[in-house]
Amino acid sequence: MPKPYIAINEVEMLNNPTTMEMFQNVGPKVCQVTARHPGFVGFQNHIQFGILPFGTRYGGGSMDMTKMDTMNVYQYTMWKSIKDHEDMHRENFSSIFRLCSSCLSQVIYGPWEPLYEIMDFDIPVNTEMTDFTVMFGKKFAAGDPSGVPPISMPYGKRTIALSEHTVKPGREREFEQSIYEVMKELSKAPGYLGYMVMKEVGVSAVGSFQLKSKGIHQILESNGEIPVEQEGAFKPDEAKPVPAVYSVHMEWASPQDAMFGIGRVLFSHPAREIHDRVLDTLIRGPYIRLLNPMMEGTTWREYINSE
Ligand code: FE
Repeated sequence: MPKPYIAINEVEMLNNPTTMEMFQNVGPKVCQVTARHPGFVGFQNHIQFGILPFGTRYGGGSMDMTKMDTMNVYQYTMWKSIKDHEDMHRENFSSIFRLCSSCLSQVIYGPWEPLYEIMDFDIPVNTEMTDFTVMFGKKFAAGDPSGVPPISMPYGKRTIALSEHTVKPGREREFEQSIYEVMKELSKAPGYLGYMVMKEVGVSAVGSFQLKSKGIHQILESNGEIPVEQEGAFKPDEAKPVPAVYSVHMEWASPQDAMFGIGRVLFSHPAREIHDRVLDTLIRGPYIRLLNPMMEGTTWREYINSE
């Protein structure tokens, strides 16, 4: 199975109707420019609506934080290779800069665009209720009725839990093996749809608009014009984090399913025993953000599930 690389463009923006308007106007244009490159296999753009407070550990947060003044945006793009992502940003710098800089009035922090390798996954294709009979029929005809995946609904009809971890040096393999086992346990919970364990392998300088000093000054000393110097300040692997950083992306039917499903690592003894092995490899985390996938090009799910 081919595994795409994932670039996650993170931006903190004002939480107001102007941002939503820009998201809907500019987002599709950026996606179209991105699709000029043959290495682009799909996208999934999210807004964060809350966190998983895990009882009272994160007592200041809640599962519905949509009343906050700011809003985090996580824009995933999927690529055949990291070079494809970097080439796309270089080749289309002017178009993307023009589109993105039109939103700068709403930006508070970012963009910051880490790059991830998928270490392990179980990601179903997305299925509308109306597609179910066709999908079931195909599996049945292929003699694989038990291979029918869960109905993973597209476009804002499911919840993503994105869980951040920093792992002690030398304990990476132990973390990975244990987290795969945790995911197998969670897959038994109602509303579980799928997961990806992602390891951060670098950061895109151009995707983060982290240019060399000349380029930065050209932007700041103009009215947001496209800089002549467009070179990124560093190479992707120069930004690979040490100690290792992992994000576990889980998909659930609803926020409540995410809460009680993931909660099994606290209240179900077998899940807790396995998850405790994960906890003992950590320096930081888990911090779990709840995201709503607002816009998606689901072709990457077909790519990851192709032979
Ligand atoms: Fe990018």
